[in-house]
Amino acid sequence: MDLPRLEPLVVPPEGLGAEAHWVVVHKGHVVLGFEGDALPFGAEPPLGATLSRHFLGTIGGHGVWAVDIEDHHEHHDVPDVADGFELVNLRAVYGRVPEAQWYSAGRAEQIVQWSRTHQFCGRCGSQTKAHPTDRARSCTTCGLLAYPRLSPAVIMLVERDDGRALLAQGRQFPGRFFSTLAGFVEPGENLEDAVHREILEETNIAVTDVSYFGSQPWPFPNSLMLGFKANYESGDIVIQEDEIVEASWFAPDDLPPCPRGGMSIAGSLIDDWLTRSGQ
Ligand SMILES: [Zn+2]
Repeated sequence: MDLPRLEPLVVPPEGLGAEAHWVVVHKGHVVLGFEGDALPFGAEPPLGATLSRHFLGTIGGHGVWAVDIEDHHEHHDVPDVADGFELVNLRAVYGRVPEAQWYSAGRAEQIVQWSRTHQFCGRCGSQTKAHPTDRARSCTTCGLLAYPRLSPAVIMLVERDDGRALLAQGRQFPGRFFSTLAGFVEPGENLEDAVHREILEETNIAVTDVSYFGSQPWPFPNSLMLGFKANYESGDIVIQEDEIVEASWFAPDDLPPCPRGGMSIAGSLIDDWLTRSGQ
């Protein structure tokens, strides 16, 4: 049986019941309940009803709402949450709740941050208001529409004829931890060009046979990760030192510390390669 998925919506469908999943967002944290392994569920959010809300969609026929509490607790680093609930960093929510709830938490954080930073028009400076049917805010003076921004990023595993794969240690990782290469898509560039460019920039390796693998929303702060596989064509590794600490070709039976498993697309790419390598 398929697990229920998040259906993203802007307007609550008619006849939707009051019982809902609540994503209470506070400075990159969300509130979890029920021993920390699920979003709070019920007819009201766990922190009262007087806060700003955004409808996010449905999971299994129940509504999902984001609740923004940041302004109500500006003098406290961490708000008090009721007994039985816990405020958890969004990154730590990943892998801890069912997938649909994880996507809901990421969607909530992005919608809340977008709404907070688009209260005024980017063109004329007038106040904006929520669009009645679209996920947009419209300017009350000039009508400019602002939509939530997504930043597409490509992430890719490069394989070589001898069965090795290219993994790199990015500057952002503390300690010795390797992963697949990744980078943002530039305006005016297609995804395949971005794959070629990022690998060449970061490691001096030219690739061929770029093929799509899968995608994943990544709300830090608003990425959409697009996974690709590619094959080595030419070049010796020369790292881009301001981004990469170390890059190397690793054999399937001699892996460095790296992501594994299904929830992160880097882990999925590496697992897929290992499976095809017979590991
Ligand atoms: Zn305007």
